[in-house]
Amino acid sequence: EQVENKTKGKLQKQICQVVLDHFEKQYTAELGDKWTSVRDVLTCPSCWQYAILLNKFSQSAELENTLCVEGYHPAFQGTLPYLPRSLKCYISRTPRRFPAQKHQTGKLKEYYLLNAASVLPVLALEVKDGEDVLDLCAAPGGKSITILQCAYPGQFHCNEYDDLRSRWLKQTMESFIPDPLVNLITVSKLDGRQIGDFKPELYDKVLVDAPCSNDRSWLFSSDTQQAKFRLVQRKELSSLQFQLLRSAIKALRPGGSLVYSTCTLSKAENSDVINLILKSCTNVMPVDISEMAKAVSQEFTFLSDTQQHELLVLPEKGKAWGPMYVAKLKKI
Ligand code: SAM
Repeated sequence: EQVENKTKGKLQKQICQVVLDHFEKQYTAELGDKWTSVRDVLTCPSCWQYAILLNKFSQSAELENTLCVEGYHPAFQGTLPYLPRSLKCYISRTPRRFPAQKHQTGKLKEYYLLNAASVLPVLALEVKDGEDVLDLCAAPGGKSITILQCAYPGQFHCNEYDDLRSRWLKQTMESFIPDPLVNLITVSKLDGRQIGDFKPELYDKVLVDAPCSNDRSWLFSSDTQQAKFRLVQRKELSSLQFQLLRSAIKALRPGGSLVYSTCTLSKAENSDVINLILKSCTNVMPVDISEMAKAVSQEFTFLSDTQQHELLVLPEKGKAWGPMYVAKLKKI
């Protein structure tokens, strides 16, 4: 049973045992020995690390100095031939706390805290200036603003089905992106499964950062009944993910590409979904992302036996990023 403890005046996260037992069984079968070290990180919030994504629209040399003094260094730099120079993401080798910035009307935020592995789906998407881009499941907007750090898309369409989260997405965009650019971004509240029919063959790039079992946060569910319910419902996620992918493929122009990502280790929501798509849609082919994985392998630990069009980031002490699954497909 989960109880929130008060230690030294701070609320401490408590592990939800039903979720841990469920993961223990599934991930021991899927990952073998590697699960033990992943579990040790996921169940230890004081080991978690946060990356700091700088906002190019509100640059601050002072902030970069502070980060360096506090032991952060720029990630990804000089490692990727196609890494956009405008993308600046700072990380540290050891867990540190950097305060999140509050929303202030009329003032753009200087940085966004995120899991460094969240940058990988965006890097894999390789958005170029002028390309039409759809972010199918966009709230709260971390990857949308990362895309805008990398390039200036032609059309940029960010979609989020959930009403409250869609408002959160809008607020993120307004906090990071200046006028008039922010007014050129379309934010919609559609069911992503239907966008392919509404907007067929309209986009060069589509990001499907799918709803999934969020391993990290599920382990700390505060409501055991809700956690049990989620675990039962979990089986239905792969069907939703499959439908979102099919819609994304419809929305892509021939020659365009999509990136699928989740923050779970679950094979059923990762490679099984991609394999089913590759089997059932004859108009898509896998895209090799192994060069990108190699280029960032200093900062991340990947599962070794994946195929070339996919990667799975395994959290490890000192590189506590992920879980994050990324796969790339191209429409023929
Ligand atoms: N990309 C976001 C980011 O980087 O900040 C995180 C996205 S989160 C993993 C998945 C999102 O998909 C959730 O906000 C969820 O509400 C949304 N979602 C769930 N079902 C959806 C659907 N049918 N169509 C579109 N979005 C959906």
